[in-house]
Amino acid sequence: MPVDAGPADPEAAWSVLGGDGRVALEAVELHRVEVGFRRPVRTSRGVHRRRPLVLVRVLGTTDHGEAVEGWGECAALADSAYDPEDAEGAASTLEHVLVPSLLASAATSGGCLPPVAALPALRSGAPEAPLAYAALEMAVADAHLRAAGLPLADLLGIPDRPVLAGAVVGRYEVEEELLARVGDLVAAGYPRVKLKIGPGGDVGPVGAVRRHHPDLLLQVDANESYTEADADRLAALDEFGLLCIEQPFDRRDLGAHARLASRLRTPVCLDEGLSSPAAVATALDLGACSVVCVKPARLGGIAATLATVAACRRRGVPLWIGGMFESAYARGVNAAVAGLPGFAWPGDLGPASDYLDETLVATRRGAPATVGGLVAVEVPRVPGMGPPPDLEAVVRLGRWSVRLAAPDGADRGPPGAADGAV
Ligand code: MG
Repeated sequence: MPVDAGPADPEAAWSVLGGDGRVALEAVELHRVEVGFRRPVRTSRGVHRRRPLVLVRVLGTTDHGEAVEGWGECAALADSAYDPEDAEGAASTLEHVLVPSLLASAATSGGCLPPVAALPALRSGAPEAPLAYAALEMAVADAHLRAAGLPLADLLGIPDRPVLAGAVVGRYEVEEELLARVGDLVAAGYPRVKLKIGPGGDVGPVGAVRRHHPDLLLQVDANESYTEADADRLAALDEFGLLCIEQPFDRRDLGAHARLASRLRTPVCLDEGLSSPAAVATALDLGACSVVCVKPARLGGIAATLATVAACRRRGVPLWIGGMFESAYARGVNAAVAGLPGFAWPGDLGPASDYLDETLVATRRGAPATVGGLVAVEVPRVPGMGPPPDLEAVVRLGRWSVRLAAPDGADRGPPGAADGAV
């Protein structure tokens, strides 16, 4: 399939993935690994030093008798400050609800790995777990794509050109250190920088960065750290010509966001509360945001993301892709999604090696992508969702794993990992 002439409707293309029933499901492994952040990540909610990652590995056999696997990555963080699901809870949801549902579904269809269109029905046992579900969906879709020899980007008709990457900067206590960090990123060619802000660290540092970089695409993320009593403070950010201010208030208070949006010249963007396509529609209807941060995991997976993208395009709402400190695997998936029409601004697509000690994906050689001399990332073109995690790294960094086998699945056994909890 020519990469520039894919289907006009990505949702339709996605919905038929796996419908040919060519993959027999044998087993599903769950792995929890833990990697370190290269530098502590400070937000208004605290400091993160370690990044747990829950990975789903689907094992199957194609109709040609060849082994095929599919990887999914869960975006849940170490705690539930950002999202109600934390890594431990998401792993439990996968082990006790979603994966057993997948295996049961396969058992009712002759052992076939369910198509992606059948997956939403598996959510009934865990309707409030979009991050765990997104990981399962990613793994199943990866297996189907690999069995078909098809890259995600080709399935969705995503153009074969790099997408611009933005950088994210945590809060700094010392202004000179912040300026040095932003200076390094601008020198490296990042076309957009997002600053984390919060009470006590907003107008001052943002103004300092703006004075040093008058033409930089600059946006800020408050991670819910303000209340409406801070509206004057937030209005003072208008003078800095920001792309947007992200999630200033509690995610549940759409009314406060709407009132702020009506007052500011700076567009208000939401992130934390956008946990489904319906949540995005409600926020837009209420005027609580005019820009949408797309995080495929937080929205509940690729199908939910494609629905959100289509709805926002119909309304003319600009999109950009956010990050959740993914490994290089899920970040590659995000790069493909960011290649869809409708993504107006550079997203949080800087390489995982910028923030993680281990990216889980074997490093590929070659010059980094650029667009007009600016930092960009290639849209992955390998069969599957993207360049997959390296099993050796997963085993080496593993803290826990479990294997759930299909009732009649031939048990190949996971290389390097024992059955049961480790
Ligand atoms: Mg955010």
